[in-house]
Amino acid sequence: MNPDWKNIGFGYSKTDYNVRATFKDGKWSELEVTSSEYLTIHMAATCLHYGQEAFEGLKAYMGKDGQIRVFRWDENAKRMQSSARGIKMAEVPTELFHEAVIKAVSLNKKFVPPYGTGASLYIRPLLFGSGPEVGVKPAKEYTFLVFVTPVGPYFKEGFKPGNIMISRDFDRAAPHGTGNIKVGGNYAASLISLEKAHDLGYGTVLYLDSKERKYIDECGPANFFAIKGNSYITPESDSILPSITNKSLQALAADMGMKVEKRHIPVGELSEFDEAGACGTAAVISPIGKIVDPDTNTIYTFCKDGLPGPISTKLYHHLVDIQYGDEADKFGWVEIVK
Ligand SMILES: *Cc1c(COP(=O)(O)O)cnc(C)c1O
Repeated sequence: MNPDWKNIGFGYSKTDYNVRATFKDGKWSELEVTSSEYLTIHMAATCLHYGQEAFEGLKAYMGKDGQIRVFRWDENAKRMQSSARGIKMAEVPTELFHEAVIKAVSLNKKFVPPYGTGASLYIRPLLFGSGPEVGVKPAKEYTFLVFVTPVGPYFKEGFKPGNIMISRDFDRAAPHGTGNIKVGGNYAASLISLEKAHDLGYGTVLYLDSKERKYIDECGPANFFAIKGNSYITPESDSILPSITNKSLQALAADMGMKVEKRHIPVGELSEFDEAGACGTAAVISPIGKIVDPDTNTIYTFCKDGLPGPISTKLYHHLVDIQYGDEADKFGWVEIVK
């Protein structure tokens, strides 16, 4: 295997193995290793009819020292448990989640992109109702699966700002709905608005809170943050998915002596920010150049000279260096795969 690591993009490619377990009669099975990319499931499985499905996304990175590091998998395990509770699925125990992630990575070691390419091994845990039901109720059987796939650097041309637009015509998630858990239905609900934004030439959509449309909620499938003076500011809302990247950036910002503010962000405050960005596992930080509000004909500009702001740049390198093992892991965020 000798792919062009820098140009593999963010997509699916086949690896050798994936691991699976099933929940039946009230307990989880042992993990099963398979090389099949397919699943045989009952046509009345609840995931197909009633959306009982949740997923996770995390990465493994090859260090300069030849060691493979998995970033904060315990946070993903916790979040998948919270997603499971949110749509009445069986929870995957932390030990089973850990075993599955480590096994999926170590069985596919040859697919972990080399150090220095900016590429990494994306890990996708998946949990869904596989037992049959016709009435609306939770399944009695569940399937948990972890597959991996190598992904290229998110920014092929380097760390560069993009433009996004505010959308008041569409919501991604409702207050007291499922916005705070990582379920497929939220993504389905975002597809029309994302495509609209892409067609208009924007990278993604900035969603506002669905109740009042006054405050910033999420930035496509990523969290929003802004830098104002010495503050790192990120929205507080129960329809936002708690991003592990955002949580890590908050810890790094605090460690750099910044003030971390989690609160409502009114749209008008955008004009007061020095820097803005979207954050998530895929890109770590996507710096925002401009936010366009088509309804009020306002353009908020953050990046001068088309370059990302200094604080976003510093936070980005800090986090990436910890992930690749170039910087000491003083928060205990990485596990080395033996
Ligand atoms: C997964 C996800 C994120 C990013 O979370 P990370 O843990 O940082 O990858 C942000 N928003 C939504 C809606 C998501 O599904």
